[in-house]
Amino acid sequence: MSELSDKLLYTKESIYRTCDGDKKDKIFAYAKGYMQFLDAAKTEREAVKVGVAMAEARGYKPYVLGAPVKAGDCYYYNNRNKNLFVFRVGTAPIEEDGIRIIAAHIDSPRLDIKQCPVYEDSEMCFLKTHYYGGIKKYQWTALPLALHGVVVLKDGTQVEISVGEDESDPIFYINDLLPHLSQEQYKKSLGEAIPGESLNVLIGAMPMEGEDGDAIKMNVLRILNEKYGMTEGDFLSAEISAVPAGKARDVGFDRALICAYGHDDRVCSYPALTAIFDSQDTTHTVISILADKEEVGSEGNTGMQSILLQDIMDQISISLGANPRIVRNASYCLSADVNAAYDPNFKGVYEKANSAILSCGAALSKYTGSRGKSGSNDASAEFIGKLRRIFAEHGVVWQSAELGKVDQGGGGTVAKYIAGLNIETVDLGVPVISMHAPYEVISKADLYSTYEAFLAFID
Ligand code: MN
Ligand code: MN
Repeated sequence: MSELSDKLLYTKESIYRTCDGDKKDKIFAYAKGYMQFLDAAKTEREAVKVGVAMAEARGYKPYVLGAPVKAGDCYYYNNRNKNLFVFRVGTAPIEEDGIRIIAAHIDSPRLDIKQCPVYEDSEMCFLKTHYYGGIKKYQWTALPLALHGVVVLKDGTQVEISVGEDESDPIFYINDLLPHLSQEQYKKSLGEAIPGESLNVLIGAMPMEGEDGDAIKMNVLRILNEKYGMTEGDFLSAEISAVPAGKARDVGFDRALICAYGHDDRVCSYPALTAIFDSQDTTHTVISILADKEEVGSEGNTGMQSILLQDIMDQISISLGANPRIVRNASYCLSADVNAAYDPNFKGVYEKANSAILSCGAALSKYTGSRGKSGSNDASAEFIGKLRRIFAEHGVVWQSAELGKVDQGGGGTVAKYIAGLNIETVDLGVPVISMHAPYEVISKADLYSTYEAFLAFID
């Protein structure tokens, strides 16, 4: 590149094209830790459990809501086992310095088991499901599934369920139609070919001896009762999800990429956690959030529309003798969520110059939304200008990104809810191939770049 073009042009370049061997080793080592996190955290509850263990291992203490804090304190707050706040109180005057927030989410698209789910038909026993988040239903048939979740028994005992991940475990399955009989199905649109009510999880086929009627269902209920002490009625107070079974895997002969369930948004959650743990800075007050319910609109008391973030920020501010309104006004947030990586197999829906390109670094989206930026937090030029300087200072490779062509659709994140608290907020995260598919793909280089961006933001 000539000196002048270097000065005048904005270009994106793959980190893999420019990094040395030392950097590549760092990228791959970090990816290993992430893959272990993925394998242990397939639901928001499991992600909170792993996050709490990571925080405790680094000396973070459980926070009691409303308790005063002081500079130097490191806390985590476990909100109902589905939403985690990890925070460190800094020494800088908080009314000027504000609070730096990184907000990722730990819920992923999946199939939730219904309240009255068990039935048998034609020598097979199934669980009825209600899908959670934006899935392409046809992608969830004919693949190995695991069941994860909790059951609150009649007596209040809570039982955890995780079946299908261990090699010796059985897996579960959703039937699809054989091509030989698919003449009519082929004529339907992809969205209609597999109706939601046909996403029934196959869980048994062995009748109970001496039992008339639904003997297979009875046998499955017997096994569940022996294993978990539960009855059919206990599904009423259960949260069980069917998710793709199996571990995260390297992709490609060169192992540059990772295929796994739930990159969206654990691929930003893991860097959000490790960045706060690894940062050496003690001046800034920092909060990393692992939110729930993003995939269904950030609703409820564990989603980012809850007032809990404000409560925690305000408590920190009041403890330090600051005005919470002034602190919120001075605060900054990276809404840490994934973006779509440009996919040459589906060129028609992307506008390449404004799409995230795989391996070119963390993707910063000034705005999201659809149909004319509707539903978007459109971050300010001033805030992005500030981030550009921070990232340049720290040598972070990042890229701009918009989700596809203007009229193709769109999506949202938690950004607008946090911005609504009067906090400067922008979206930044990892570009993903096949987002919301049972198995998604990301680049290890983008994962590491996102971690570096978070570190730079809070250091
Ligand atoms: Mn997401
Ligand atoms: Mn999503």
